[in-house]
Amino acid sequence: MRYNCKKSDELKDIASIAGLIYNIQRYSLHDGPGIRTLIFLKGCPLNCLWCANPESQRPAIEHMGNDVVGKYVTAKEVIDIAKRDMAFYNRSGGGITLSGGEPLKQYEFSKAVISEAKRLNINVAVETSGYQKWDCLWEVLEETDIVLYDIKTMDAKQHMEFTGVSNKLILDNAKRLSRLNKNLIVRIPIIPELNDSFVNLSKTARFCKETGIKEMHFLPYHQLGVHKYQRLNREYKLNHVKPVNKEKLIDDAGKIHDKYGVVITVY
Ligand code: SF4
Repeated sequence: MRYNCKKSDELKDIASIAGLIYNIQRYSLHDGPGIRTLIFLKGCPLNCLWCANPESQRPAIEHMGNDVVGKYVTAKEVIDIAKRDMAFYNRSGGGITLSGGEPLKQYEFSKAVISEAKRLNINVAVETSGYQKWDCLWEVLEETDIVLYDIKTMDAKQHMEFTGVSNKLILDNAKRLSRLNKNLIVRIPIIPELNDSFVNLSKTARFCKETGIKEMHFLPYHQLGVHKYQRLNREYKLNHVKPVNKEKLIDDAGKIHDKYGVVITVY
């Protein structure tokens, strides 16, 4: 991971800044308000056991079965695609969402896309694990309207075990972003028997309350991405995990909301 972030005035023309993406999805109703264009960047510093998009993890073009995954595009090419749907954004309150993979990893490219989107008055959301050195993270998120911020577990040891990295930087960055009044929504992928305990969910809500974060999303685990592991010749380690008990999760969310006052949406 590179740690020297270039400041905005040093950035090159958006036609000369390229990033590695693996998909652009138009007309999406997920990952931010209204109708959105989702840009999926390739490369992630985490390696979550449950990752539903394993083809997003490696920062390189690769094969998944017969398909080639990943291509380099310039920030201008991304913006040109996004601009086609301006009328939908304006009518629905939508915009673009940078997702991944991890948009903070390709911070120069993400920054260029976001700066141009903001110049055109397009709403921008970023989905992130928050795992990046502060200077690089802030380069990307300073102009971002909505930060969809994943916190997988509050337990340091389990975080390392489930994702391969420590949660310290992630939690520290969340606090700093909140102090700067960023619109932060904390999202938890709910994985049965790994991080779905009432204790972990309550600890996360308490962290949100103490840091001034007002909204959380619970995203129940699914196995929609499992077939991709076979096509990538990788092992999927969570075959034994059962579906989320949605009724219990909604019940837990209600109790946690009553105690900590954080608004919780269960998907
Ligand atoms: S942070 Fe997201 S993209 Fe990265 S490994 Fe975890 S689930 Fe996959």
